[in-house]
Amino acid sequence: MMVKTKTGEMSKALIMFSGGQDSATCLAWALNRFDYVETLGFNYDQRHSIEMTCRQTVLENMRAVFPRWADKLGADHLVDLSALGAISETSLTRDVEIILSEGGLPNTFVPGRNLIFLNFAAALGYRRGLTTLIGGMCEADFSGYPDCRIETLNAQMNAISLGMDRPFKLETPLMHLSKAQAWALAHELGGQTLTDLILEDTHSCYMGERDTRHAWGYGCGSCPACELRAKGWHEYNSEGL
Ligand code: ZN
Repeated sequence: MMVKTKTGEMSKALIMFSGGQDSATCLAWALNRFDYVETLGFNYDQRHSIEMTCRQTVLENMRAVFPRWADKLGADHLVDLSALGAISETSLTRDVEIILSEGGLPNTFVPGRNLIFLNFAAALGYRRGLTTLIGGMCEADFSGYPDCRIETLNAQMNAISLGMDRPFKLETPLMHLSKAQAWALAHELGGQTLTDLILEDTHSCYMGERDTRHAWGYGCGSCPACELRAKGWHEYNSEGL
């Protein structure tokens, strides 16, 4: 369903798009709902530039196989946040093993990462006239990242709207969905074609492994991101969602 503003203007949004399963599903959701969508990726010295390559492939293939969406897909922006990588001692940005730290957070957690992403997204959105932001944050995520929680995000969006003196809004279509339900949403939005695109082109694995193709996509099969993706895929198939 298309969203029209009160004045009948085009509805526009800026989506934080990493090239992973969640943000690809959000991108399809956005293209189904808005008239015009721009994409934003952050480069912060992830160990694997594979994610940056995958996001380009997803964008290209999304344009190629969904002509109805291609017309709505606007500029893609890439913001260099290497300073974030430099101050974060985590397994995504340092060559250390992924472990659960005290409090149960995996050390893949970059402190405050989503808060920083939101500020940059809003600053870009301000310049581009895009005050609706979209993100793949998910409370059901195994990791319990505190910056993915709805209370955190609401507080942050309130601060952004006040600080930029413009009413910004954040849409998080996956917030209360399980990984299995996220696969179901993708299928609902783009059928088997989209499911296949997400399986083949998106990247989740923390180890950057893309040599082995499983039923659920590429990955090492044993890091937390692969385990989560595999579990969601198996649940989606067995539950007949
Ligand atoms: Zn993996």
